[in-house]
Amino acid sequence: VAEKQTLGFQAEVKQLLQLMIHSLYSNKEIFLRELISNASDAADKLRFEGINNAALYESDPDLKIKVVFDKDKRTITISDNGIGMSRDEAIEHLGTIAKSGTKEFFSKLSGDQQKDAALIGQFGVGFYSAFIVADRITVESRRAGLSAAQGVRWESTGEGDFSVEAIDKPSRGTDIILHLREGEDEFLSSYKLKSIIRRYSDHISLPIQMQKEEWDEEKKATVLKDELETVNQASALWARSKTDITKEQYEEFYKHISHDFQPPLAYTHNRVEGRSEYTQLLYIPAHAPFDLWDRNKRGGIKLYVKRVFIMDDAEQLMPVYLRFVKGVIDSSDLPLNVSREILQESRDVRVIREGSTKRVLSMLEEMATSEEQEQKDKYASFWTEFGQVLKEGIGEDATNKERIAKLLRFASTHNDSDVQNVSFDDYIKRMKEGQDKIYYVTGESYAAAKNSPHLEIFKKKGVEVLLLTDRVDEWMLSFLQDFDGRELVSVAKGDLDLGKLEDDAEKKQHEETEASYKDLVEKMKATLTEQAKDVRVTFRLTDSPACLVADENELSGNLVRMLKAAGQ
Ligand code: ADP
Ligand code: MG
Repeated sequence: VAEKQTLGFQAEVKQLLQLMIHSLYSNKEIFLRELISNASDAADKLRFEGINNAALYESDPDLKIKVVFDKDKRTITISDNGIGMSRDEAIEHLGTIAKSGTKEFFSKLSGDQQKDAALIGQFGVGFYSAFIVADRITVESRRAGLSAAQGVRWESTGEGDFSVEAIDKPSRGTDIILHLREGEDEFLSSYKLKSIIRRYSDHISLPIQMQKEEWDEEKKATVLKDELETVNQASALWARSKTDITKEQYEEFYKHISHDFQPPLAYTHNRVEGRSEYTQLLYIPAHAPFDLWDRNKRGGIKLYVKRVFIMDDAEQLMPVYLRFVKGVIDSSDLPLNVSREILQESRDVRVIREGSTKRVLSMLEEMATSEEQEQKDKYASFWTEFGQVLKEGIGEDATNKERIAKLLRFASTHNDSDVQNVSFDDYIKRMKEGQDKIYYVTGESYAAAKNSPHLEIFKKKGVEVLLLTDRVDEWMLSFLQDFDGRELVSVAKGDLDLGKLEDDAEKKQHEETEASYKDLVEKMKATLTEQAKDVRVTFRLTDSPACLVADENELSGNLVRMLKAAGQ
C-alpha cells in the first residue's frame, strides 16, 4: 500500500490543462481564489458531516485556511483543516473532471484560442488553474476520521500523469503545495498574496491566515514572523449589511458558490422576518450552464442554518423552473440536523420556497419593466439564456402563472426577425379595434411559423400574430388559455372566429360563398373520408388554395409532429 503509484489523467484533464494554461494566463492570480474556494468547500463538508459525527473534528475544531510562502524553495502552500481526501478520493477528484456537462463542453471547443478562452471562462477550471503558475503541485491530505497513517501525497507536473503514495499526516485536512514556474516569483510576497485574497476571497466565512510581516531594522528588510494574522473579513457575506458589501464582493461570492467564472446577471439580497426568518442571497447567472436541460439536476441553492452550512443543491428551496438560480438561503428556524427528507415536508421550507420564488420573479420584473437600456438589455439576455426554462413555470406554478405570463417574450409578425422580444402587454397595446383575442401560431421553426398559410388573413387585416416555435410552447399553451381576460387563440385551429374583426358585409358575403360551394365540399368530403375529418370553405387564406387545420379540441399539427418525433 505504501508504494508510489503513477496514474494517467482522464483524457479531458490533459486537454483542459493545456487549454487553460494558454487561455487564462492573463488572469493567472485566480488560482488562489480557486484553491481557497476549495478549502472553504472542504470546511463546509466537514461541518456537514460533523453534525452527526462530532468526532470528526478531532482536537482541532476551529476551521481555517492558511496561506504561506517560502522564498527559498519558491513554494506557496494553501492549507485547510477541512474534510480532507482519502487516497481514492484524491485519485478520483484530482485526476478526473466530475463536472456535469464536461462532454458538451469539449464538443464545443473550436480550436480557436480566443473563442475557447471565453468558453473555458464559462466552464471554470478549479483546482487545475494552479498549473498556470506552478510546474509541479504536491497535495498532501488526510481525510477526517482516518488515522494519521492513512494520509496521501498526490503529485503532478500537469503533463499527463500524477503519482499517489501513502504518507503519515497527523493534521487533518489538505495542504496544496505549489512549486512556482520560472518567472512567477511575484507571488512570493505577502503584499501580493494579501491583495489577491482581499480582492477575490474576502467573502469566505472562514479566517484566511497569513504570517505577520514586520520591518527588521538590522536586516533593512521585512521579515515573516511565526505569528499568524487573519487577512479577510471572515464573516458570512450574506449576514453582513447590504450597505457594507460592494458589487465586486457580491460578484466574487457568486463565483465561489456557483463555480462560474463570469459575473452574474443580477442578484437580490434580503433578510426576511415574520412567519419564517431567513436571509436570501440569490443570483441569476449570465449564461446557461451546459446541463440546463437536465431537469433531474439539483438546483444551485446552498442551505445554511444560522450560518452553518447544511447542504448544497437544496432543490426543495426553489421550484424546478427556476433551477438556474444560484445562491444561499440561511434559515433561523430549521433544525441543524435537517435532512433532505425533512426538507421535503417542512412547512418552513415551503414558506421559504414561496418567498424565494417571489423574489426571483420580482428581480426579473424589475429588469423587464425598467426604462433603463442596461436593464432592458439584461432582460433580453436573460430571456435568450433562460426563457425556455421559465416557460415551464406556466405549467408548474399555478400561483404565479400570471406573473410569469407577463415575463414571456415572443417572436411576432410585428417584427421582421426571430428575436423573442414581444410581451403579451406589447401585443395588447397594438390590438386592432374590435380585436378581443390574442392570436398565435406554433411551428417547428421561425421560418415555418412565419410562412404559415394560416397567417394570410391576418396579414391582410393587419392583425399581429405571435410566432411560437420553442419545443416547450405547445406544452405551455395547454396551461395558458388566456392572458388578462383575452383568450389565446391558435390561428391554425378549428373554425377561426375573427369576432368583430369581420364586419357584417364580409360575414354575409362569406355565407353566400359557402352556400355556392356546398356541392363541391360534399364531394370532397366523400372522396377524403379516410384522410380528413371535415372539409370546409375557408376565408383565412388569401393566396394559398387550401390548408390543413386541427380541430379545436385536438392536438395541433405541430404537437403531433413533435410527439411522432419523440416516438409516441
Ligand atoms: P470543484 O470545486 O468545482 O468541484 P475543483 O477542480 O476546484 O472543482 O476541485 C475538484 C475536487 O477536488 C473538489 O470537488 C473536491 O472534491 C476535491 N478537492 C479540491 N481541493 C480540496 C481540498 N482542499 N480539500 C478537500 N477536497 C478538495
Ligand atoms: Mg473548486
